[in-house]
Amino acid sequence: MTTVDPSRCPLCGQSNTCTQSDPARAGEDCWCFTAKIDPAALQRIPPELRRRACLCPRCAQLLPPEQAD
Ligand SMILES: [Zn+2]
Repeated sequence: MTTVDPSRCPLCGQSNTCTQSDPARAGEDCWCFTAKIDPAALQRIPPELRRRACLCPRCAQLLPPEQAD
């Protein structure tokens, strides 16, 4: 059984900052409501994670994950 963390981006594992995954902020507009999501980014999400976890803003635009340094 795979545990899905809906607050993490399925592509890079970083926080997707989705308001919908946070009960305290549910109902607020999320960045993803207005952001342009690259269809190619959606294709890269593993099938079992589709519709369960949001992308982060960077992956949604096919940008490389933010570096930790
Ligand atoms: Zn990401």
